[in-house]
Amino acid sequence: MEEQKKILLVDFDDTICQSVFLKKVNEFLGTNYKIEEFKEYLIDNIIPEERRKEFFASFFESDPYEKLPLIDGAKESLKKLSKKYDIYICSSCVMLNSPKNSAKLFSSKYEYLIKNLPFLDPKKFIFTSAKHLVKADVIIDDYFSNLKGDIKQKFLFDSYHNKEKTEEELKERGVVRVKDWQEICDILLK
Ligand SMILES: [Mg+2]
Repeated sequence: MEEQKKILLVDFDDTICQSVFLKKVNEFLGTNYKIEEFKEYLIDNIIPEERRKEFFASFFESDPYEKLPLIDGAKESLKKLSKKYDIYICSSCVMLNSPKNSAKLFSSKYEYLIKNLPFLDPKKFIFTSAKHLVKADVIIDDYFSNLKGDIKQKFLFDSYHNKEKTEEELKERGVVRVKDWQEICDILLK
């Protein structure tokens, strides 16, 4: 009988693909911000309050994820990992600054995944903000708050907004920081 694969839960934004908000904010403001210039999770907070409504109204004028680059090594690594792990993609599709305007995010992320990572099973895409309800053996996420609960191996994917999380904070929750996909493969495929 085939050995049961471990369940690997992988986040989407800023773990598999680069920041959609950086792209959309730059388009909207006509700026050229780089990801390193942000420390705060919500990049759209840089948009002046009085223009937020306009920003979110224009968010889906074109598919926000179209042509958005993958994070370096994500595709090749997930392909390799899929031989050993049962991969589930888990992503929130509700924008914190605009929940009512989020419906199209579900289809946009779905399209992105089937186009860019065609070897993954679409039946294993989980679109929810309640990630703590999902059972798994391993989780990879750039958002520290998502790394809780009794999942055995928890990896914090290095990102602009989590650089200041201390080793102590990580240790307390049994979280290990990984700097890139290569490091994930080194740990999970050894
Ligand atoms: Mg993320």
